[in-house]
Amino acid sequence: MKVAYFNIEDKLRWLLPQDKRRDNFDYAFNGPQSVKHLIESVGIPHTEIGEIKANGESIGLDHLVQDGERIGVRAVEPAGEQFTEPRFVLDCHLGRLASCLRMLGLDSLYRNNYEDRELVQITVDEDRILLTRDRRLLMHKNISSGHLLRSLEPKEQLKEVIQRHGLKKWIRPFQRCILCNHPLEPVRKEDVLEHLQPLTRLYFEEFHICPACRQIYWKGSHYDRMQKIIEGIEKGE
Ligand SMILES: [Zn+2]
Repeated sequence: MKVAYFNIEDKLRWLLPQDKRRDNFDYAFNGPQSVKHLIESVGIPHTEIGEIKANGESIGLDHLVQDGERIGVRAVEPAGEQFTEPRFVLDCHLGRLASCLRMLGLDSLYRNNYEDRELVQITVDEDRILLTRDRRLLMHKNISSGHLLRSLEPKEQLKEVIQRHGLKKWIRPFQRCILCNHPLEPVRKEDVLEHLQPLTRLYFEEFHICPACRQIYWKGSHYDRMQKIIEGIEKGE
């Protein structure tokens, strides 16, 4: 039996079992074990791990932990400004978050019946970031980019995603269909007139349409709500 001494940054401690939520804990293990395996076995998916040190030296996830080693684990750092647009896939409990992200123009695949293996496949094949509250899913060996959401509340989840993935400069409201994620196109009022309610006809001039599902969008009450959310994000509220 070998023992390693862990120090986990406090930001990550909510993921640990109660008896390990303190500055340091001992962890006994058998055989050769990677530091990734040991950290995941106490509840922290590799997607949430930032810098790791063994006896003060930086190490990688595949480092084999030695008997008596002191392991320091930091949370993943928020990404800086992104030069390519980050894209997401969301697990089936995150429908409201998916709508919020799409409202901000962020490419976010979502269905309420994705199976775990499909989520993993899409994440890998399409180079997307997997958003979920299921930490077991993020421990899948093929997942390299994922994010375990802490909050249960969609607005808080949205803030978590924007902060961690450097999304501010990618926010483009009214560019994407909230229902199906397809990019929207401008449409002339006279071409959609027959689908509009009388008050909408009266008060709005500018319209967009989703070419995939034919949903029509205009800057009505949705838009005001969305503007408030965006302002909140920009002020860091
Ligand atoms: Zn659509």
